[in-house]
Amino acid sequence: MKVVSGACALFDPESGCRLPFDARPVACRLYPFEPWPDGTVSVLAGPSAGAEPDEPRCLAVDEADGVEALAAAFGLDDASLSRLTALLRESVQDHARRTARGLGAP
Ligand code: SF4
Repeated sequence: MKVVSGACALFDPESGCRLPFDARPVACRLYPFEPWPDGTVSVLAGPSAGAEPDEPRCLAVDEADGVEALAAAFGLDDASLSRLTALLRESVQDHARRTARGLGAP
C-alpha cells in the first residue's frame, strides 16, 4: 500500500479511513484481529516489531474489556470474523498464485 508521511495514503487524520468499510483491504477490516493458519485469532495489542517505542497504540485494544467487547467495538462477531478470515485466506492464496505466474496485484 502507498505510504504518505508515514501513514497509509488513504488515512485522513481528521476522519480516519477514506474508504467505506466494505471497500477496505481485508486485513484492514480484520484489524485489530489477526487470524493464524491453525484457526486461532490473536489481537494485535501493541506496536509492531521494530516500531518506535512511542508509536501510538490502539486505544480500543487498550481499553476493551475482553476480546468479545473488542470485537463488538469494531462491529465484528464470530460469524463476521470467520467470513473475513476466509476472505483473507483466499486473497493470500490468490496473491501467491499471481506472484507465481509473474502477475502483479489485481
Ligand atoms: S483502514 Fe486500511 S486502507 Fe484505510 S487508512 Fe487504514 S490502512 Fe489505509
